[in-house]
Amino acid sequence: MLRRILLLLLLIVPALAASEKCAFCRHDGGQYPLREVDYATGSQWVCQRCLDKLSRCSVCRLATDRKLYRDGRTLCASCLKLNLANQAQAESLYNKVVKFVDGLLGDRVKPLPPVRICDDDELQTRFIEGGRAMQVAGFYQPYNPEQIYIRSYETLVEAGGTLAHEYTHAWQSRHAVQQDRALKEGFANWVEYHYLVSIGEPGRAASLTQSSDPDYGASLQRLLELERKSGKAAVIKLGRTGTKI
Ligand SMILES: [Zn+2]
Ligand SMILES: [Zn+2]
Ligand SMILES: [Zn+2]
Repeated sequence: MLRRILLLLLLIVPALAASEKCAFCRHDGGQYPLREVDYATGSQWVCQRCLDKLSRCSVCRLATDRKLYRDGRTLCASCLKLNLANQAQAESLYNKVVKFVDGLLGDRVKPLPPVRICDDDELQTRFIEGGRAMQVAGFYQPYNPEQIYIRSYETLVEAGGTLAHEYTHAWQSRHAVQQDRALKEGFANWVEYHYLVSIGEPGRAASLTQSSDPDYGASLQRLLELERKSGKAAVIKLGRTGTKI
């Protein structure tokens, strides 16, 4: 019996290997070698020609043959399927993030500013209206109305991290004194860092320390150093009552 199964496997496995086709052009690897590409929905075979020719997803940077999304981004099938897609998902993720941040900082933000998901074009327009000029994945609007914006189709990890950061700005508006940009952004990044660690993403958390903007990256490094020496409570005290790092 066992021998029969083994024999069957010997026949089937090479047949399966031979039937691999490019997910986009359906050609086998005869002309162009097939590469295995790790989409979040699972790995797919893609031929070298398609890899060279196709556009890249704006979110995961992997090859896709999708037409432009309505806001001008290129989004692959995998990101469209798995990432933050609608207002209900944004609210459910936001509630989890708020719970984590409230637990870490020990103070709630009342009333809780609502979260709003929007496409990239709307997000950037609103952000620029607020007098700022950089590309963002989300931001905190302090008034008219107080609200947190989050960009659609971010991964749940990225979106959660962004929400933790922006919610911290809302917290600062209630519980912190006036502070310089380095402490404000460094502290928001410190909260984002701990959120990412809490969901099992220490690598993504560590990458925050490498931000090229020193108010984000270098500030976070200094707050983590303070945490190692004096504990979380010392960092939170600085975030509440300090005016600079
Ligand atoms: Zn192909
Ligand atoms: Zn993608
Ligand atoms: Zn910020």
